[in-house]
Amino acid sequence: MSEYFRNIASSTSTILTGMGITLKHFFNAFKRKGEAGIEESGYFGQVDGLVTLQYPREAIPTPDNARYRLHNDIEDCIGCGQCVRACPIECITMETIKVTKADLETCGKTSGGQQKRFWIPVFDIDIAKCMTCGICVSVCPTACLTHTKVSDFTEFDREHMIYHFGNLSRIEADLMRKKAEEEKKAAPAKPAPKAKPAPKPKPAQQPNASSNNE
Ligand code: SF4
Ligand code: SF4
Repeated sequence: MSEYFRNIASSTSTILTGMGITLKHFFNAFKRKGEAGIEESGYFGQVDGLVTLQYPREAIPTPDNARYRLHNDIEDCIGCGQCVRACPIECITMETIKVTKADLETCGKTSGGQQKRFWIPVFDIDIAKCMTCGICVSVCPTACLTHTKVSDFTEFDREHMIYHFGNLSRIEADLMRKKAEEEKKAAPAKPAPKAKPAPKPKPAQQPNASSNNE
């Protein structure tokens, strides 16, 4: 019988101890209303105060090497398509138009001094599909495709998850396409490839002497 009452006392004591700790944290949280001091080093080492962040007012700073939302600095993109081919889930869509000789200067160069040879009316990334693996970024020869530190890109509309980076409007793209076609038509026809000399006829096989004897 005495053990029965000892167990009740022990349980009550345990509950009260737990409740005491919870209440202590609850009241300590009031002391830190306002800025949580997330930028302070040792924030996560603090045992008192808020136990959750008041998102989105407070957010954990993203580390410098974070791989989040993609960005294409289209002025440096040469339209090589390596990122498109490398993406394992095909979430990059790109369309290019060859720049005519007359427009090469207008199209300009990358910040690294490389002549751009393609207009890029469409460069879309479906960020809803993107798994931020970073493969496209690692293969980009001009380093124009980068991960930003933006980790929250929630949207109400699925269509808003497709980011557009193209550098031509539809009307401009139609014009450049027309120019490219005209240049192609005006180009002198390539000489037909020389016909390969006909292979020499193989010498007729001599009948096998041993088979004649049979
Ligand atoms: S990060 Fe990965 S999944 Fe996203 S676009 Fe680049 S290659 Fe594709
Ligand atoms: S790999 Fe880089 S330069 Fe090439 S198309 Fe993609 S973003 Fe542009």
